[in-house]
Amino acid sequence: MTSIKLSNIRFISKVEMFLGVLACLSFLLILTPQSWINRTLKFDPLAFVSFISDDSSSGGNSEVSWVREEEQIWKCEMGDISPIYCGLIIDVRGENGKGLDLSKFQEMTVWLDYEGAANSIRFYLRNAGDPYYNGGSLSTKYNQIVIPVEELSQGFTVVLEDFQVANWWLAASKVPLKYSHAEFSNVIYVEVQTGEGAITGEHKFRLKKIVWKGNLVSDEVIFRTLILGWSALILLLLAFRLVKLKFRLARDKRKKEELVEINKLLDLQNKELVDLAKTDQLTGLINRIGIRDALFENLKSWQDKRTPFSLILIDVDHFKKVNDHYGHAVGDEVLIAIAALLRENTRRSDCPARWGGEEFLLLCQDCDLYRAQMAAEILRRKLEDAEIHPDLKVTASFGVASMTKPDADDLFKRADQALYEAKTQGRNRVCVNAGIDE
Ligand code: GH3
Ligand code: MG
Ligand code: MG
Repeated sequence: MTSIKLSNIRFISKVEMFLGVLACLSFLLILTPQSWINRTLKFDPLAFVSFISDDSSSGGNSEVSWVREEEQIWKCEMGDISPIYCGLIIDVRGENGKGLDLSKFQEMTVWLDYEGAANSIRFYLRNAGDPYYNGGSLSTKYNQIVIPVEELSQGFTVVLEDFQVANWWLAASKVPLKYSHAEFSNVIYVEVQTGEGAITGEHKFRLKKIVWKGNLVSDEVIFRTLILGWSALILLLLAFRLVKLKFRLARDKRKKEELVEINKLLDLQNKELVDLAKTDQLTGLINRIGIRDALFENLKSWQDKRTPFSLILIDVDHFKKVNDHYGHAVGDEVLIAIAALLRENTRRSDCPARWGGEEFLLLCQDCDLYRAQMAAEILRRKLEDAEIHPDLKVTASFGVASMTKPDADDLFKRADQALYEAKTQGRNRVCVNAGIDE
């Protein structure tokens, strides 16, 4: 993951940066004035078919007439017999017969020139097409607003929410109460009428322009989208974190298992290496290094419990000649055979080892000098009688010593002296060195 780094310290992650940018955008969206993001519908009355009407058909005596029809300038000579009205009706239906959908707009600004003595004029946005209307002349819902005339020439703005359905229309059409609110989804007529309480005399009108304005996106939609968006984002991030965590856990577990396996292998290899280091490769007996553990154990046991133990040093007689006469390979065979003989004719607790070259060693646990001497004698005879190679007699000399004082060097020295004695006395024999206690 790329990140801003401050002196090699991860300062902020990419995801956090992305969230920060989104939060800034959200703030901007909330703080943006609605007027920056609104929709506008400009209405030119001259672009549509229009006609004028008065109250004569309903029994009144007002008279409406064009002053200049091409400019949609009309006038009204108001009568005095009720109902009193004159008006201009503009058919705003498009070619497909559909009216204007003004339901998405919030306000309406009207520019109108007026000459006369009235204080206000009436405006109708007549909505059509809903099934609950009665039909006939009542087939459009009369959404009405009364506008004061003073500022109309400079443009007067009203809020569409302030429109109300005309009372006379509600009374006549008997629309259920729940449908008696103003509607602007299909406005087919825009109508300007002389206002309520209009006084008799001449009134002259010219409707110049109407502009409807509305928010492109309502506050509600903005907040709803923001809340939904942020909730979805947080959920997504949580889900992503969970999945990532799951993968990481699985990976860590796998790695741990691999490490355990590697450790096991290393332990095994280590043990093998240790075993290898302690074992003589030719004979399979333990070597000088391997004998240390056993020697230490015996010494400890002797020290703690006075358990006797003895050492037998064995040196093959005239082994050089064996090599010289029969070859080195036969010499090796002889060494292997002697090792096997030692293994087979000693107790489980005894510890035979190859001391080096053609010299062997036997640690006899829980064994005094006499028993060690007996054991050595048995081994000597067995070797003498063994048929290791045709026409080849192999013998060895044995030096035996027992542990008499807490000094392992002394033990080895005395066993060596006994061996030397056996050699000098003519070989193929067992000699003992009893030490100072004897
Ligand atoms: P002694 O009776 O006095 O012990 O005479 P020796 O010939 O046995 O003694 P010496 O120390 O002169 O000779 C030992 C020989 O053992 C010399 C060496 O070549 C041989 N030898 C040592 N290690 C090995 C081995 O691993 N394999 C073989 N084939 N010969 C070995
Ligand atoms: Mg030797
Ligand atoms: Mg020898």
